[in-house]
Amino acid sequence: MENEEKSLNFIEQIVEKDLAEGKNNGRIQTRFPPEPNGYLHIGHVKAICMDFGIAERYNGVCNLRFDDTNPVKEDVEYVDSIQQDIQWLGFQWGNVYYASDYFEKLYDLAIRFIKEGKAYVDEQTAEQIAEQKGTPTEPGVASPFRDRPIDENLRLFQAMQNGEIEEGRMVLRAKIDMANPNMHFRDPIMYRIITSHPHHKTGTRWNVYPMYDFAHGQSDYFEGVTHSICTLEFVVHRPLYDYFIDQFADSDYRPHQYEFNRLNITYTVMSKRKMLQLVREGLVRGWDDPRMPTVCGLRRRGYSAHAIREFINKIGYTKVEGMIDLGLLEHTVREDLKETAPRVCAIFDPVKLVITNYQGEGETIVADNIDGHPELGSREMLFAKELYIERGDFMQNADKNFFRLSPGGREVRLKSAYIIQATGCDQLPDGTITTVYATYDPNSKSGTEGGNRKTKATINWVECNTCIDVEARLYDRLFAVENPSAEEGDFRELLNPNSLKVVNCKVESSLQREMQALPLKNGVHEQHHYQFLKQGYFVVDPDTDANHLVFNRTASLKDNWQK
Ligand code: ATP
Ligand code: MG
Repeated sequence: MENEEKSLNFIEQIVEKDLAEGKNNGRIQTRFPPEPNGYLHIGHVKAICMDFGIAERYNGVCNLRFDDTNPVKEDVEYVDSIQQDIQWLGFQWGNVYYASDYFEKLYDLAIRFIKEGKAYVDEQTAEQIAEQKGTPTEPGVASPFRDRPIDENLRLFQAMQNGEIEEGRMVLRAKIDMANPNMHFRDPIMYRIITSHPHHKTGTRWNVYPMYDFAHGQSDYFEGVTHSICTLEFVVHRPLYDYFIDQFADSDYRPHQYEFNRLNITYTVMSKRKMLQLVREGLVRGWDDPRMPTVCGLRRRGYSAHAIREFINKIGYTKVEGMIDLGLLEHTVREDLKETAPRVCAIFDPVKLVITNYQGEGETIVADNIDGHPELGSREMLFAKELYIERGDFMQNADKNFFRLSPGGREVRLKSAYIIQATGCDQLPDGTITTVYATYDPNSKSGTEGGNRKTKATINWVECNTCIDVEARLYDRLFAVENPSAEEGDFRELLNPNSLKVVNCKVESSLQREMQALPLKNGVHEQHHYQFLKQGYFVVDPDTDANHLVFNRTASLKDNWQK
């Protein structure tokens, strides 16, 4: 799949046709237009791969434009994180623009609309305006302020901007058509008053702010965007997008809007509003909680930029909404890590194993980072008389179907080391086993001639005195239901109560090096991946310090993705 030449998606086909026809003199310009009101999520990555991908593929430019028209929800924290995440994904914009760069121009344009009789100040409440919208089959009702004289509209709009009118008391509406079958043409709101929050860039300069529909197309036009790509919910906005530009554009050039299907993934939500709520209410540990579908959350979880982009590549772009199985995302990260993550032993539920006939002080065992791939490096493990093994790998009275350790002559290999046989165990009165005893065969060491002897089972181990304690954070799906957004009621009640499990485990001493303070590159920590044998893929977490190692499970080993 990865090596096959992928066929063009429908937007690439449009671009190629435009190029063939010599449209815009062969110029290709896109933009990625996030509102800085939250952190980027994997849905945004789908848009990013499209917007930046088109520009890369066709020698065009993709600019980053912050769609910052609502100061109530926006913040520089988000502006910074968005830039960091885009770069981490491996994309580079041409310029950074802000919709707020155009506030002056847009305001002048609004004045022009008023003077041309194309806009009016409405004093009705938002509820009244909504009630008068009508339905797609019934025309709306005209506002009593619709035919206000032009000079009065001008005076009132200026008063709105001067801070003389209270927030919510007046709006500027386009005067288009209250009977249009497209509801967006029924005198859409162009400007509203916001005085309660300063803007993160323009401060208190403005008391009126343009609505999305009056800002987006114009911004595209001012910048010279050729292909303005967004998601399907904007299909119904497209005629209005074109209408506003047609009212003032004095050249032949026009930006064109194209739409593709949003990314939705099972067992999660893909809305900044809902994610913000989870963060604010402490229902997750932050925007970068490894359970979150945010770019920073996935990064902390251990997803590489490559794995995320590969996933977007797999799902493709269509014109129908759908839902993607979370299993496919997990499958993609496993494929990514399978061939690169060094293997280490980690024991999650340890019980002590004493090898009674082992005489020496201990010895070094050299094991491949990835079995059978010596070219990918190796690591040293200490082997000695006292080890930890998984409690579940020993059974005192086992039947013939249990192939791991049990007294009675059954041979089991300790991974990369010797063959042993259990001889007995110590138990508490309640039956809990405290120590397992075994003998080893000194002539069975892996990598030596005797090392080829086959056993039915191989078990993992770490050496008791040198192993390190690790806090392992095991994650499960964030929500208990497949599509939380489609359910009635409060989405927070649908959270999976078992989405985080913390386990203290013991890992081999080769992980000691991870305890040095984590290197931070431009504020982004480097990902150090491992496969903890039998437990899954893990990545070191930035909560790690010199005394305490923390690892996140990126994915378990079991792949339940069905093609
Ligand atoms: P949210 O509802 O999460 O706030 P949004 O669409 O309002 O999302 P924006 O910041 O306005 O977020 O989006 C920037 C760009 O990313 C837009 O072009 C938008 O269409 C696209 N985008 C947002 N969510 C998705 C998604 N789930 N799948 C694909 N593209 C998306
Ligand atoms: Mg938005």
